[in-house]
Amino acid sequence: MAKTRDQSPNEASIPRQTTHPRSMNIVWFKRDLRLHDHAALSQAATSGPILPLYILEPDLWQQPDLSHRHYVFLLECLKELEASLNTLGAKLVIKIGDAVEILNQLHQNISFSSLFSHQETWNYWTYQRDQRVLKWAQSKGIIWVEPRQHGVFRRLKDRSQWGWRWYQEMRKPILPLPTTIDFIPHHHCDGLPHSQELGLIEGSCSQHQMGGRSQALKLLDSFLTSRGKDYSKEMSSPVTAFESCSRLSPHFSFGTISIREAFQAAEKHSLDLKNHLHDFSSSSWPSAMRSFLSRLRWHCHFIQKLEDNPKIEFKSIHSAYAHVRPELPDSELFDAWKQGRTGFPMVDACMRALIKTGWINFRMRAMLVSFASYHLWLPWQPTAIYLAQLFIDYEPGIHYCQIQMQSGTTGINALRIYNPIIQSIDQDPKGVFIKAWIPELAHVSEALIHTPWKQPLLMNGYPLPIIDEKTARKKAADSLYSLRKNPEHQSLSAEILNKHVGHRRVSNKSSSPIKK
Ligand SMILES: Cc1cc2nc3c(=O)[nH]c(=O)nc-3n(C[C@H](O)[C@H](O)[C@H](O)COP(=O)(O)OP(=O)(O)OC[C@H]3O[C@@H](n4cnc5c(N)ncnc54)[C@H](O)[C@@H]3O)c2cc1C
Repeated sequence: MAKTRDQSPNEASIPRQTTHPRSMNIVWFKRDLRLHDHAALSQAATSGPILPLYILEPDLWQQPDLSHRHYVFLLECLKELEASLNTLGAKLVIKIGDAVEILNQLHQNISFSSLFSHQETWNYWTYQRDQRVLKWAQSKGIIWVEPRQHGVFRRLKDRSQWGWRWYQEMRKPILPLPTTIDFIPHHHCDGLPHSQELGLIEGSCSQHQMGGRSQALKLLDSFLTSRGKDYSKEMSSPVTAFESCSRLSPHFSFGTISIREAFQAAEKHSLDLKNHLHDFSSSSWPSAMRSFLSRLRWHCHFIQKLEDNPKIEFKSIHSAYAHVRPELPDSELFDAWKQGRTGFPMVDACMRALIKTGWINFRMRAMLVSFASYHLWLPWQPTAIYLAQLFIDYEPGIHYCQIQMQSGTTGINALRIYNPIIQSIDQDPKGVFIKAWIPELAHVSEALIHTPWKQPLLMNGYPLPIIDEKTARKKAADSLYSLRKNPEHQSLSAEILNKHVGHRRVSNKSSSPIKK
């Protein structure tokens, strides 16, 4: 099983002075595909000529959580990164293969003495790869400098100072694009493979978001100048969320923009509004900016949990839930959920929108997981993998923690069982979103759009509900509620709370299911 990340200290992760001030360096781009606010690049550029490197790792693309849509987004990001480097007179060296083998070959050719890359807290595969790279670097006497790119801290002893440290990290000056960089000329570059060569199956993400830093900057600008005004009010409904949420998540995940850049832009915008907006107190902007800034903190808060406990990717956070659901999903129910054919219009519309666009808003993600984990009683691991493949913004730290929270396996959060019919009525009262994504129901009246099964003759091939909503919800709540009564459950919950949140008391609320 996964070792905890803090059991394998990478001493080289602490930035330090290189022993050869003008040595040749490699800057290894990972999930930080930009040149601005790039600590690894900035530090490397001051200590000698550099080779900018991206390693395309076929084994990583074999992992079940990665998919074709991630690859498409990656290619767009790499294209822009390459163009930006070209304007500085440099080339992005792309190599295909195992990271240790590639680095070893490069070392034989250009004998670099330092490797610079941002700390990566991603999935367990990348963690293991980094351990191998560290071992190799140490065996060659190469210094691996790994600055932080987020407010996530390695080998954190406890959570007590976390919030303070996060703000400190976010308020550090943004690193400018280095103006003087010496590049090591290197002409051999591998061509990027076609997705099929990596075994990636083309999906139906025909309305996917575009990658690349220019897209990230456009999104940030339009969010802060207009789209984000009613963010707090509009983020929960899929009718408005596609436009009113920032849509920056895939860019944070691939690092075309840093969280710090977004944080500082949003803080500046808040200040500008305060100073210049005449109706500031009655405007919706202040609460929009507060909510957005909190979410940027949550981004790192969740990644920190995975950094502290990598088992979260595979195992229920609270052991009482390890075997509560069957190990393998019921294939009929699972397939219906995967394809958006459960018979519950809001669930299906969200799934179909996600398949085509690679994105859905927070509340609807939570509802999709809640429906799979409670109503369909599916184990969370396969649903997590399926959603990881669909979310272009897949970020393991956020993803697995949220999946577990929404499946009720953390033992420290209130159970939230979303009623898909109430969500439908609340978030899409006129059925606009449902009709857009479920053409079979396009002609159904507003009165019936949330419960079309009441008129089966009008369903036009759309399926009847695959479960009885009320019975399934009650059964799931009863099962988990009885587990929570156990005193051992309470004591382990207190330990988990202390480790991941930083205070000791387990809220009484956690034992009463909230039904929405
Ligand atoms: C089951 C489930 C799985 C999720 N998986 C992912 C994932 O793989 N990758 C991912 O980036 N987000 C994930 N989220 C969180 C959230 O839904 C997305 O961050 C958000 O919808 C992204 O859209 P946006 O960029 O427009 O967000 P905005 O609402 O504009 O928020 C700005 C940024 O804040 C961060 N953020 C927002 N909400 C959260 C949250 N609840 N927790 C942590 N960070 C947050 C994201 O980085 C986001 O880009 C998941 C949520 C759930 C319920």
